[in-house]
Amino acid sequence: MKTDNLLKRLRGATVTALEPGLGARSDALVWNGRKPARKAVLIVRATCAEDVAEAVRFAAANGFTASPRGGGHHFTGIATQADMVIDLGALDAMTLDLEARTARIEPAVTNARLAAELESHGLAFPVGHCGSVPMSGYLLGGGFGWNSAEWGFACFSVTAVEVVLADGRMVTATATEHSDIFWAARGAGPDFFGIVTAYHLSLKPAASATVTTIRVYPAEMVSAVADWAENVMAKAPACVEFTTKVTPTPQGPVLAAIATVFAGTDADASAIHAALGQGAPEALEVIGPMPTPIGTLYEVTEPSMPRGRRYAVDTVWSDGRYGEVLARIVQDMALAPSEASMTLAVLRSNAVATPGNTAFSCHGRIFGALYAIWEDEDGDPANIGWLRAAVDGLVPLCTGAYVGEADLERPDRALPTLSREAEVRLAELSATYDPKGLFRHHRRDESVAAE
Ligand SMILES: Cc1cc2nc3c(=O)[nH]c(=O)nc-3n(C[C@H](O)[C@H](O)[C@H](O)COP(=O)(O)OP(=O)(O)OC[C@H]3O[C@@H](n4cnc5c(N)ncnc54)[C@H](O)[C@@H]3O)c2cc1C
Repeated sequence: MKTDNLLKRLRGATVTALEPGLGARSDALVWNGRKPARKAVLIVRATCAEDVAEAVRFAAANGFTASPRGGGHHFTGIATQADMVIDLGALDAMTLDLEARTARIEPAVTNARLAAELESHGLAFPVGHCGSVPMSGYLLGGGFGWNSAEWGFACFSVTAVEVVLADGRMVTATATEHSDIFWAARGAGPDFFGIVTAYHLSLKPAASATVTTIRVYPAEMVSAVADWAENVMAKAPACVEFTTKVTPTPQGPVLAAIATVFAGTDADASAIHAALGQGAPEALEVIGPMPTPIGTLYEVTEPSMPRGRRYAVDTVWSDGRYGEVLARIVQDMALAPSEASMTLAVLRSNAVATPGNTAFSCHGRIFGALYAIWEDEDGDPANIGWLRAAVDGLVPLCTGAYVGEADLERPDRALPTLSREAEVRLAELSATYDPKGLFRHHRRDESVAAE
């Protein structure tokens, strides 16, 4: 493949052309240990937005499809399935304006890095639940992060995006300039029709007392746990994040009811935890209340999803009863082929109203994320089959799915990731801004590069 012309125009990027059979270089860009069947044939590791624009022009001129790659964290490995991967891993600049409480970050800035920097200045942002995830695809899909009931989904704190379009043009989109691009960049996820090379963020004052309590229960307590959770969360302030983590064990599924409070003072955090504890069913074990600053939260979440394992993941939004959703999940976890798998069921009845006017348009009172996690390729059919059957069982209780962690590989998806109205508008904008489908590689039926 002739890439000399491209190389001459780049400011520092490296270009790797992959011969058939050398898909390992493409696979290395995917976080999931389970690698996609399709492989990229060209990797451009950009060093600046201009490099991204040149790579996009080269792809367009050569009839390639292209995909940006932030950190390759989408569980489907979708970022490396176009002909050309534009790796944004080196675009990691971050600038804070402390007085204005704003930040400009490039896509490879990770949740952990942004959170640590902000914490040192008494500021915060609704960063995601795992520190290694880059803001790149996290923000684009909506961003379901810490303290989301109070701080909102992260995309609502994005005030501008710098974007390279399919024709190589570079624009900055805000609520008033290129507002249709701005609308799409807040929630379209992998269906976005451009490449975001920087996000502008509005920051929050930090919660100075972040405190967590965990109560552990056997599966047979599911209904009592759900009733108590519904009851206390109906009265809880928005700064409470309540999640039940369900894991399989040889003795049956175990429930961990985790309440994290993002309060202004220790006294407030204690009072909120005391209220949450009222009527709590007797637990096998109670851990906390304990201080859990963001660094501690990341130390806890990161090991539960280790890199290198094989993952198949899907999500659901529900406005149904927590007890019904949780009971179904517990039933499914009892059938999980791998004990490393888990489900998180977040109860968000205390969430502040979500502003509209973004592509991000599917959400609910309950969020469920089902993670099939296993070691060996032989386990693929059983684990993927389990995940899909479990989601099928939940579908009647649910309204949609979250694109950032959706099983987008599944051909017969039942749950939408956008409202119907948003889906139509996004399709129209894609046709306008990316008429040749440069970025729509994952929508194509044919394989782009079989090994
Ligand atoms: C361990 C782990 C924990 C996670 N925790 C959370 C969580 O708490 N909350 C949450 O909301 N999500 C979470 N996610 C999901 C994650 O936010 C998404 O998978 C997101 O896509 C990851 O970003 P990425 O840049 O690595 O995506 P990649 O896999 O690199 O890219 C996937 C696709 O997104 C699009 N894309 C990515 N970056 C850009 C860009 N700059 N411009 C245009 N398009 C782009 C492209 O279409 C690309 O093909 C988690 C994922 C993992 C693996």
